[in-house]
Amino acid sequence: MTDSEKPVREIRINPIVPSESVLVATARGMRPKKAEAPAPRDTRAHVDTCPFCVGNEHMTPPAIGTYPEGAPWQLRIVENLYPVLGDDRENPNLSFGLQQTIDGYGRHEVMIDHNQHGIAVHEMSEAHLALLFSTYRARMEQLYKSNPRLRYVLVFKNFGPAAGASIAHTHSQFIATPVVPDNVQDEVENSRAYYEKNHRCIFCTLIDEALTFEATLYDRESGEIRRKLDVGQFVIERGKRFIAIKPFASRYEWEVHILPLAHQSDFLAVTPEDIADLARILRRTMTRLDAVLGGAQYNYFLHSVPHAPNYANCGASYHWHLEICPRTSIPTGFELGSGLFVNTVSPEAAAAKLRAVPLD
Ligand SMILES: [Zn+2]
Ligand SMILES: [Zn+2]
Ligand SMILES: [Zn+2]
Repeated sequence: MTDSEKPVREIRINPIVPSESVLVATARGMRPKKAEAPAPRDTRAHVDTCPFCVGNEHMTPPAIGTYPEGAPWQLRIVENLYPVLGDDRENPNLSFGLQQTIDGYGRHEVMIDHNQHGIAVHEMSEAHLALLFSTYRARMEQLYKSNPRLRYVLVFKNFGPAAGASIAHTHSQFIATPVVPDNVQDEVENSRAYYEKNHRCIFCTLIDEALTFEATLYDRESGEIRRKLDVGQFVIERGKRFIAIKPFASRYEWEVHILPLAHQSDFLAVTPEDIADLARILRRTMTRLDAVLGGAQYNYFLHSVPHAPNYANCGASYHWHLEICPRTSIPTGFELGSGLFVNTVSPEAAAAKLRAVPLD
């Protein structure tokens, strides 16, 4: 039995957000939740009734942008038909006592990620993925510039019904909000506190640890080996500029994070060379996930430093990243009630399985 096959039952603390912990419990009897049967993927190239398909452009609100410019569209950004936030002033906020509200000011847009209906990310070319990410960058920048009230632009993708995608045609979303989402705020504030204490970016430290091959923990008194850590086992992909890591305290069984190897706090600072390598690492990572899961349904989202005055000093402490969260199970009452995520596949074993997928 190798290290990664040993049963694990331990609570792991997220190093970035210590208030978020995960119960990793791989023993068979510990399985508290049942995976949903994976829905078959809609792999059709064109669907006559799909509002996102070529020829049906009149079925969506008018395009905010199409890319590449001056050519048949490969990407198309439109207003969300059912926005969760809007920039109209119809609903002024009325606060009373403890019932404080902030009006739902913001922007909610959809980007149609490809002109082929059912194509998955790992089936897209690297050139297309580079266009996709440079368009994320360009639109994020435009949204931040469009109104100083916008403090965060969340870019995310839901793929597959288990991940909450209501339209099968591959697409991403932009939600620009006047508040910084809690998840981002926790990361930004905790990494700033870590930096103040240690003068190092905690994400860079995590990358360094992931790239360390092996560490041995000895008992201080007896000198006996307490635990051997094969730390490098969390690396899924390593490119020239990006790394894909299986987090030690993964909330989801097949969660993978992609980070730039060199410190960078703001996704808006990426160069075309960065994006080319990111496209390659993402494509390879998604190919591995798809092979292991037999059709991955997932959410991915970009976490980057907020554009808000009180985060102006986070350039050295925060490190942007892409979190990929495949959805293979539904949360149980235990998870919802306790706030403790339960992961039934040890991150070490999941990483070994993902690494073992043969790629060309
Ligand atoms: Zn379609
Ligand atoms: Zn860093
Ligand atoms: Zn994050």
